[in-house]
Amino acid sequence: MFNVEKIRKDFPILNRKVNGKPLIYFDNAATSQKPQVVIDSIVDYYSNYNANIHRGVHTLSQEATNAFEEARVKIQKHFNAAKSHEIILTSGTTHGINLVATGFSSFLKKGDEIIVSALEHHSNIVPWQMLCERTGATLKVIPISLKGELILEEFEELLSSKTKLVFVNHVSNTLGTINPIKKIIDKVHKVGAAILIDGAQATPHIKPDMQKLDCDFYVCSAHKLCGPTGIGMLYGKEKWLNKLPPYQGGGEMIREVTFEKTTYADLPYKFEAGTPNISGGIAFGVALDYLNNIGFDNIANYEKELLEYATKKLLEIEGLKIYGTSKNKASVISFNIDGIHPYDIGAIIDKLGIAVRTGHHCTQPIMDFYKIPGTIRASFSFYNTKKEIDLFIEAVIRVKNMLL
Ligand SMILES: *Cc1c(COP(=O)(O)O)cnc(C)c1O
Repeated sequence: MFNVEKIRKDFPILNRKVNGKPLIYFDNAATSQKPQVVIDSIVDYYSNYNANIHRGVHTLSQEATNAFEEARVKIQKHFNAAKSHEIILTSGTTHGINLVATGFSSFLKKGDEIIVSALEHHSNIVPWQMLCERTGATLKVIPISLKGELILEEFEELLSSKTKLVFVNHVSNTLGTINPIKKIIDKVHKVGAAILIDGAQATPHIKPDMQKLDCDFYVCSAHKLCGPTGIGMLYGKEKWLNKLPPYQGGGEMIREVTFEKTTYADLPYKFEAGTPNISGGIAFGVALDYLNNIGFDNIANYEKELLEYATKKLLEIEGLKIYGTSKNKASVISFNIDGIHPYDIGAIIDKLGIAVRTGHHCTQPIMDFYKIPGTIRASFSFYNTKKEIDLFIEAVIRVKNMLL
């Protein structure tokens, strides 16, 4: 059974006070907090078996290599990838997207088209714009409705034999919209293009199945799903990873180096130049174990309860508007109150120990679409409670009465 009070005991940071008040952490869409088991796994690695991997014959190196490669298999199983070498350990979502975008430089030419959605994080926009600059390809944009949903009819209009690559997020970090990615993937494959899914915001809430989805690439960051910063996953279908050139050159990614010619290592090492974030990879695996022990169905159900509860309470506040009203939403709420700058609300409720994000959330095109400078974003995790939401609502009402 899902017991939030028991779960909260796993997160040491939830005991701390901020400005004399118990911390209420509603900035989970920026990064999640870490359970003790994840923290312990990092301390354990550095205390007991720190060594470089894939290089030494000595015991520590073998222990570290085994732990890192076991983590890769855990990640593979979690995402149901067909093969463990389809899992590339990156430094995070941004790294994974840049790896693919750079690799596609050699495949695209003038006249080709790539398609992005209007819902994307800057991480899933800028690398593709850079790709267009390098290759002369054209960037097209899937528009969104006022609810914050992709307009799929218009997407179909954009698709053609010129389309080479499409990249959309699974869940919007600003509006919370859960995109119908299976439908999108199938449409993209019909025109023979490839698709990359940015799963940074989905993976804390949903367990996506790579083989069922049949996407070509899927990226995420461990730090948003209870793991550490500086580690993430790029899933790529084997045929694509074999086609893509290496992203960085260096140690670990080679088979043989001479000054005449260097040959590259097999997957996944071809894309893992240099000493990786070893403790991070191991802790990523531990974070997935932790979440799977709680169960993604339990997490989704509980977070939905929090989302519905908070939405209802917020909408009772006069002059408050929520951006992103899709029926299919993750536990992210972006809102504004008439006549108040989002920053003011964020700064004042911080004095009450409440952490929310204010601003454009790395999605300026969404702000332009709604013609607003930014929003206040409250994003909930499975370790948050309705009691915390009550305190947050009280605080927002207090600020409103103070400023208006
Ligand atoms: C957080 C986030 C990113 C960027 O992730 P990094 O860990 O900063 O690389 C990209 N896309 C979405 C949807 C995100 O939420």
